[in-house]
Amino acid sequence: MSLDCEVAIIGAGAAGLSALRELDRAGCPALCLEARQRIGGRIFTVHDPLSPLPIELGAEFVHGRPPEIWDIIRAAPLTAYDCGQKAIRLRNGRVVDEDAWSTIDRVMEDMRLAAQREPDLPFSEFLANSVHTEEAKRWAAGYVEGFNAARQEIVGIHSLAADAAAADQIDGDQAFRLADGYQALALYLLAGVTEPARKLRLNSIVERIVWRRPGEASVHVRHALTGGHTIVRCRRVIITVPLGILQAQDAIRFEPEPADALRAARRLAVGHVVRVVLRFREAFWEENQSLSSAGFLLSDEDVFPTWWTQLSVRAPLLIGWSAGSHADPLLGQPEAHVISRALEAVTRITGADPTRTANLLEAFYFHDWHTDPFSRGAYSYVPTRALPDRAALAEPVSETLYFAGEATDLGGHSATVHGAIATGRRAARQILSGNG
Ligand SMILES: Cc1cc2nc3c(=O)[nH]c(=O)nc-3n(C[C@H](O)[C@H](O)[C@H](O)COP(=O)(O)OP(=O)(O)OC[C@H]3O[C@@H](n4cnc5c(N)ncnc54)[C@H](O)[C@@H]3O)c2cc1C
Repeated sequence: MSLDCEVAIIGAGAAGLSALRELDRAGCPALCLEARQRIGGRIFTVHDPLSPLPIELGAEFVHGRPPEIWDIIRAAPLTAYDCGQKAIRLRNGRVVDEDAWSTIDRVMEDMRLAAQREPDLPFSEFLANSVHTEEAKRWAAGYVEGFNAARQEIVGIHSLAADAAAADQIDGDQAFRLADGYQALALYLLAGVTEPARKLRLNSIVERIVWRRPGEASVHVRHALTGGHTIVRCRRVIITVPLGILQAQDAIRFEPEPADALRAARRLAVGHVVRVVLRFREAFWEENQSLSSAGFLLSDEDVFPTWWTQLSVRAPLLIGWSAGSHADPLLGQPEAHVISRALEAVTRITGADPTRTANLLEAFYFHDWHTDPFSRGAYSYVPTRALPDRAALAEPVSETLYFAGEATDLGGHSATVHGAIATGRRAARQILSGNG
């Protein structure tokens, strides 16, 4: 079977849906091809009737007040609530620091100054040369690895400083959750498309993109359920698949290869995260007064060092986060192993009784982004001296291929939902203006 359209969009995550909506609004015939049976990509909300709140398996926070998301929150409208930002550091159930962000902020401020003065260097090298206490260095390294899903010996301080400056512009030290779950945002983006059932195809795995002449491409699609093949002929292709897919040798084949773009993609890094949600019968940690007002619980556990509650809403849910090098022992492990490591860590951190914690556990939610064939990792980060590679990846190729998606954001908002939305719109506007 073959189909014709002006623009084929690969992926129906935040970037792909934003591109589709933008093109559709301008009356440009576009078709969005999504490998999964659902939209949203790394936005993945589960509604469990037994849970008091929607369960997020991917993106959870709206970081600050980015217009890409807040314009939607107001227009839809969606309900957003503040997250409890207080972070405490714990060791064996005892609070060792009531204001963990201040310690970390001091190191990060210093890093921003170093990034202005010095050539790019790995965060670990910056730390080694800095005057901070060993304890402060350890917490700052934990923060950088956790937030960016990055390895401290690889991630460069120039990109970390650029991201921090961009976050300042949008009150990035605040965080919000969407009361109906992040998926509401993806649904809103799709609802703005006329005849969405005709313009979005699920279960459509793109295997090959052939573009022998500028302005002429064919996208080869395999149906995930039937195995049937379709060729989509178009003039331009917006590719929003995650960086892990672009880097993989066995995912999408380009004929011919856009050499500069793919070389740039290989120089960027894919970060790994193991994120779990534990639902308990009661919020046992709130019995400890110093824990009951904390949004974030930080520890020096090897795996799952970081946890957070649902504050400002009170609910018996805890989210465990293991990223960067902390995720290594968990990657590709069976779910039962991940659950028991998570439960052990949270029991130690809160100082709770292990038997009681296990008995109170009602449900466990987890998505393995590492082995997910359509993600192959959590989100991108920039190794030392690789900052120009983001721009190289975002550069349109012969007015035919347009790479979008969080890894191509140039405004310091990569690895976020709002960054992804901005890149989808950018690609659509480049096409509409005939620019690129
Ligand atoms: C665990 C986790 C927690 C996160 N937390 C936050 C957070 O709190 N706040 C925040 O702002 N961001 C967060 N992020 C990052 C955020 O989710 C992403 O930056 C954003 O959703 C990426 O959107 P995207 O459109 O670029 O990519 P995706 O959402 O990955 O969309 C790409 C789409 O391409 C599809 N695809 C892949 N291969 C093919 C193929 N061959 N053919 C067709 N389709 C294909 C995929 O199925 C996917 O739907 C988190 C991510 C993870 C994994």
